[in-house]
Amino acid sequence: MEGALIARDRVGVQDFVLLDSHTSEAAFLDNLRKRYRENLIYTYIGTLLVSVNPYKELDFYSVKQMEIYQGVNFFELPPHIYAIADNAYRVMCAEYNNHFILISGESGAGKTEASKKILQYFAVTCPTTEQLQIVRDRLLLSNPVLEAFGNAKTLRNDNSSRFGKYMDIQFDFKGAPVGGHILSYLIEKSRVVHQNNGERNFHIFYQMLECGEDDLLRWLGLERNPQKYMYLIQGRCAKVSSINDKSDWKTVRKAFSVIDFTETDIEHLFGVIASVLHLGNIQYEEDSNGHAIITNGSQIKWISKLLGVHLSILQEALTHRKIEARSEEVLSPLNIDLAFCARDAAAKAIYGRTFTWLVNKINGSLANKDLTRKTVIGLLDIYGFEVFDTNSFEQFCINYCNEKLQQLLIEMTLKAEQEEYEMEGIEWEPIPYFNNKIICDLVEEKHKGIISILDEECLRPGEATDLSFLEKLEEKVGDHAHFLTRKLADQKTRKSIDWVDFRLLHYAGEVTYCVVGFLEKNNDLLYRNLKEVLCKSKNAIIKECFLPSELDNRRRPETVATQFKNSLASLIEILMSKEPSYIRCIKPNEGKEPGKFDDVLIRHQVKYLGLMEHLRVRRAGFAYRRKYELFLQRYKSLCPATWPHWHGPAADGVERLIKHIGYKPEEYKLGRTKIFIRFPRTLFATEDAFEYS
Ligand code: ADP
Ligand code: MG
Repeated sequence: MEGALIARDRVGVQDFVLLDSHTSEAAFLDNLRKRYRENLIYTYIGTLLVSVNPYKELDFYSVKQMEIYQGVNFFELPPHIYAIADNAYRVMCAEYNNHFILISGESGAGKTEASKKILQYFAVTCPTTEQLQIVRDRLLLSNPVLEAFGNAKTLRNDNSSRFGKYMDIQFDFKGAPVGGHILSYLIEKSRVVHQNNGERNFHIFYQMLECGEDDLLRWLGLERNPQKYMYLIQGRCAKVSSINDKSDWKTVRKAFSVIDFTETDIEHLFGVIASVLHLGNIQYEEDSNGHAIITNGSQIKWISKLLGVHLSILQEALTHRKIEARSEEVLSPLNIDLAFCARDAAAKAIYGRTFTWLVNKINGSLANKDLTRKTVIGLLDIYGFEVFDTNSFEQFCINYCNEKLQQLLIEMTLKAEQEEYEMEGIEWEPIPYFNNKIICDLVEEKHKGIISILDEECLRPGEATDLSFLEKLEEKVGDHAHFLTRKLADQKTRKSIDWVDFRLLHYAGEVTYCVVGFLEKNNDLLYRNLKEVLCKSKNAIIKECFLPSELDNRRRPETVATQFKNSLASLIEILMSKEPSYIRCIKPNEGKEPGKFDDVLIRHQVKYLGLMEHLRVRRAGFAYRRKYELFLQRYKSLCPATWPHWHGPAADGVERLIKHIGYKPEEYKLGRTKIFIRFPRTLFATEDAFEYS
């Protein structure tokens, strides 16, 4: 018994539910810290997995480890991401239903690594045939391609995913992976034209310049040195020691061939990437009338060649704007600032849409055309809650997404919990928890929510400004309990807020958003004549990305926020129909250092990942539940009547067993198929007795 206590003192408990009755944050952190010190980066809260980024290679990801976790029950082995993967897989095979694994956490917490480990686990452990090898390879290799085009070095993570990703892995009735499908969310297009100090543009640019074959670069009109490109030098860190552009490039090239890219596809793709770089080097000066003219002709020639568009029309589109006056089209020259904006808007649109094209292309190669029924496991690797010094439209969208996912978690955990109690015939005592639906509504409600108000302002070009948007917000949602601006704060004498800011009280804490740029980012407009040029492109990718039908369509395209809202709504719908598993990733320190456990930083994440709340939900009713058979199997040695064999129904055996070890009536309940244990310490004692018996 003493030995057990000492061991627990050193390495903590492998399930937070087993912590003694006080569910304090301090005890929670303490447990996490102890385990992290011992390289035990995984800990459960019931069936939810908490993972702390080790920032170093650990030795428990081998094929041997994968085999150990295959087909073994959750609680019989130390917590592991493989256990989560295996559990979802096994239930899927047994019950023939669909699953998802939601991986969340802030940037650099280890989400993408986690999703890759799960994919590898399936690739190694699932049955396969020679025919299916190709599917397996494609599933695995879709990752490096998407990472090359969608990831970048940021201050927080050298390989930061700049898009949200949901990937379905489809399995046939034998449990073999036979296909997949990827949905991507909000690629950060602004990075194409601007990077903060210490950050890079998307990896692919640097890979291509450093490692592209001489012939390729010559054909693209590019120089090797990234310093030559305006779109690559703003962050002042083209080279990063932790990133091996060379070997990543090789992987991407190999992946292209596995994922069915033709030589023409590849040519066109690099043509697009190169033209973005050329666009960035276009410079303007003012003529005597104050109109922008392009100073250097060579860039635009390359773009015209690579995109297969007419040189003079392209030139015109980059210096003029087409305005429709009555039934007439008038070309109006741009001043220098607007010309730079038009150029950057073109670069962003081209890159953003090409990324979508890439996802579609990968989906084509992962698609399984066989119509037999399949089950899926979906992996969601999506941006966590973001709070920066200055928070803009992007953070607003990302944090809204996190509110939605929190809402999903609340509904699914509480719902699942209630259903289980009902099914087992056990009384359920509801616990109070904060339902963040009120915040979701504040953001998304039709006609009344922040997104609607923003969209309305976007409909008043010329009149509306970011500040008029802020005023509208004050007017319409000013009295909402989770909304605050300076004007309102002054009235209520609260903490100071700047004139251009509004503050939302998210479930995870307060975030102050600066409204500057909201209208423009939400509109995401590309001048009509630029669109026209791109629609006529001979580059097959650009041609697919810019369809002439877009020009005929006189209806306003959906705004960015509304598109995002709709795609989130359908994502939630997809998830709601599946069985959930959750992985919460924690970033231990800001310095990407192994072994360093930053209390303040981690406490904050524990809070906004909703971990304490989750723990409370898990413990409110019954901390533990276990099928009679499993419970008996594990602890039968503790009672002479059940050891070594119990002949009879498992439920009866369990009853005998717990009477023998002295469970008090208030400590447990017996359901139809499971025993429910109220306090963790009860099971804890049993566990100790078992381990040291
Ligand atoms: P996120 O996707 O949450 O932003 P990543 O998954 O990209 O974060 O992880 C950031 C970095 O942390 C990785 O590049 C890797 O160096 C390290 N890392 C994350 N998870 C692990 C792990 N399980 N083992 C070792 N290193 C890890
Ligand atoms: Mg990531």
